[in-house]
This record gives sequence, C-alpha cells and structure tokens, in this order.
Amino acid sequence: MKWSEPLNCWICGKHADTGEHKIKKSLLTYIYGKGPYKGDNSLSHFRKDENGRDFLKELQGPNAKQIKFPKNICSQCNNVKTQPFDFAYDAFYKYLIENKSIIDDGFIDFEKVFGSNWRFEQENLYKYFLKLLGCDLDAHHLPVPDDIVNCINGIGDYRLEVEFSINLDKYLFDPYFKGLIGTGDLSYLSKDIYSNDKNSYKWSIFFSYINIDLWFDWPRYSKNNFSFRIGNKSVDLFCFSPLDNEQRIEVYKKIYGGCS
Ligand SMILES: [Zn+2]
Repeated sequence: MKWSEPLNCWICGKHADTGEHKIKKSLLTYIYGKGPYKGDNSLSHFRKDENGRDFLKELQGPNAKQIKFPKNICSQCNNVKTQPFDFAYDAFYKYLIENKSIIDDGFIDFEKVFGSNWRFEQENLYKYFLKLLGCDLDAHHLPVPDDIVNCINGIGDYRLEVEFSINLDKYLFDPYFKGLIGTGDLSYLSKDIYSNDKNSYKWSIFFSYINIDLWFDWPRYSKNNFSFRIGNKSVDLFCFSPLDNEQRIEVYKKIYGGCS
C-alpha cells in the first residue's frame, strides 16, 4: 500500500509534523549499532510492494525514512506526551533481550523489568503499543478507534489485548540472525463484516525471538492467561516452535553447513 502524507495528528488533531519510527530507532541501535549499516554491517530490510509482494531493500541506518510512518503525529504528542511510553518500551525490550531466563521461567515479572514503579511504567508500556498501532492504522487510512486515543489520554478502556510469546526456533538461531526486528501484516475486519459496531484489528511486532501480538476488539474463541493486563504484576509467556524437525535441520545446515 502506498502511503500518502496525512496532515493531522491522529492523537490531538493538530498539524502533524513528525513520523514515528515503525521499527524503533533505539532498538535498532541497541542490536545493530548506530550505523551506517554498510559493508560487513549491512542490513537487509524485507518489505512488501503495493501488490503485497516481498522485496528487499538495504537499510542504511536507524533513522532511515523507510522504517518510519508518514508524518501523522505532532511533535508535542510524539516528543512530550508519549515520550514516557517510548522509554517504558526501551526498558522492556532491553530486559527481555538481556534476561533469557524468562524462557525457563515462563513469565515476565514487571517488577523485575521496571522496579518498584512497575504499575506506572507497565501502563506506559501498554500505551506504547497503542501509539504504534494508532500510527499504523492512520498510515493505512483506517480509523483509529476513539478508545485508543482516549486511553492514551488516560480516560479510555483497555480494549487492546497484548500477548507476548517466545519463538523457540528464532531463539535457537538467534546467535546467527542477531535478532530480527519487524512488524507483521495488519489484518482488520470492518464493522460490516463482524457483528460488532466497530472495526477489529490484529497486528504484531517482533524483535529477537520475542513476538508481541496486538488484538483490538478481535473476535477470538478463547481468552487465555497470556494477555497482558494492567495491574497484574506478571504475564505468562507463550512458547512456540514454528519449524518441524526437518525444517529445523535444513535451517541448521544452511547456517552451519554439513550435518547437524
Ligand atoms: Zn498531537
């Protein structure tokens, strides 16, 4: 999909003069360094063209325009109002990447991530996901639900479900891939398809071997214990292995050569 430049901030309605990073600059820098990404440090960026076909583009640095949303929030909202959300996410991904023991634990303890201020910071983290989803919806010219804006302003319901999971195959090959970062495809059900009166959205973010699924009003058959809820000190981690044994051996051979 080709994005045109929106004019107004989807949070406050004022002139939009900044574009949030779709792939967080600080996360890229944390994993791959400040750049430029050239030579031995070159990075490939998989993207989709207007017809949904994958293509490859070099990523020159962590501030490249190709990993930013179009300008759809104002500098006040981006740099002041939502900055605590960004900081909470920074602390969160660093903790997850540096504390591999969470895989054996099977859960994330927010007090360990944020310290004694975890209740406050946990909410900021939640709002970071709201901010990112809102930017993506607006960039796709999809309506941002009022509850996302209200929740960012501290008055909305927590209708976004967030789940964290561990991709064990990525974990296995993480030393080779050095931590893939990206976002999944956005899916949505318009209000005409689903019997709800509002659109439903599904999206995901991933970094290293961590997957974060975001569901806004998405019809789901079962709720489980893996949803991140404000006020709960911990959340369970779902672990999954997308590759079967044969595929895993193939990947192993491609990376390390010879027999596994
Ligand atoms: Zn604004």
